Amino acid sequence: MGGWDIGRRGSVAAPFPWHKIWQLKVTNKVQIFLWLFIHNSLPLRRTLKRRRIKTETLCPMCNKLDEDCGHLFFKCKGARECWRALHMEELRCTLANCGSGMEVEMKIWEQLSDTQLKIVVWLWNWWTARNKTNAGDECYLFGSHVVQPKWKPPHEDLYKLNVDAAFSASTKMGGWGYVARDNTGAVLDIGAGFIQRAASALHAEAMAAYQDLSRAAHIGMTRVQLEMDASNLGKGKSLGLGL
Ligand SMILES: [Zn+2]
Repeated sequence: MGGWDIGRRGSVAAPFPWHKIWQLKVTNKVQIFLWLFIHNSLPLRRTLKRRRIKTETLCPMCNKLDEDCGHLFFKCKGARECWRALHMEELRCTLANCGSGMEVEMKIWEQLSDTQLKIVVWLWNWWTARNKTNAGDECYLFGSHVVQPKWKPPHEDLYKLNVDAAFSASTKMGGWGYVARDNTGAVLDIGAGFIQRAASALHAEAMAAYQDLSRAAHIGMTRVQLEMDASNLGKGKSLGLGL
């Protein structure tokens, strides 16, 4: 398998439900990403090469195999680790066997809406990580839930940030990610970043919380509820914060 983004859009038996992209509760940039993904039009290295653009074809995340959609999102070592951490390994195998972005998306639409959102947010985060790496920035990793399965809405005058952090004891490096929603559950922003050095998992989580709150304040969310998905600062506990 491999190269499923090369030169074909793929086809499905029924008319493709394009409207579902725009109904997803994610930001416009994520919807546009998904639209490009389904059209096999993301500027991946093998795709660029095929368009006669002079470029390296190796995947920037692993530097081992050629980069196409099938590899980057479903087969690359780092991506596989994330799918496992998100408890979606079985689904990853199903999606890895699809022949096009359109087929992948049809499988995604078969999932429950929470799972759809979880997958799309993950694909987007991985794509963002890939772009940073491709641009020469340090790669960040995040390991567990991007979206909580049993999400509870905040009070109507609050925004809610679901925060996640990952930490490697051996490298002392980590990453953070968050999803911001209003009380209707609409996803307003998604962010992720890299932690260069942390003393412990607790430290990484504290840094993650700080980063997320700073970013939320930056985009004008002044009353937020923070919920850590990570373990050390308090799993499942919420703090109402008025910044
Ligand atoms: Zn790779």
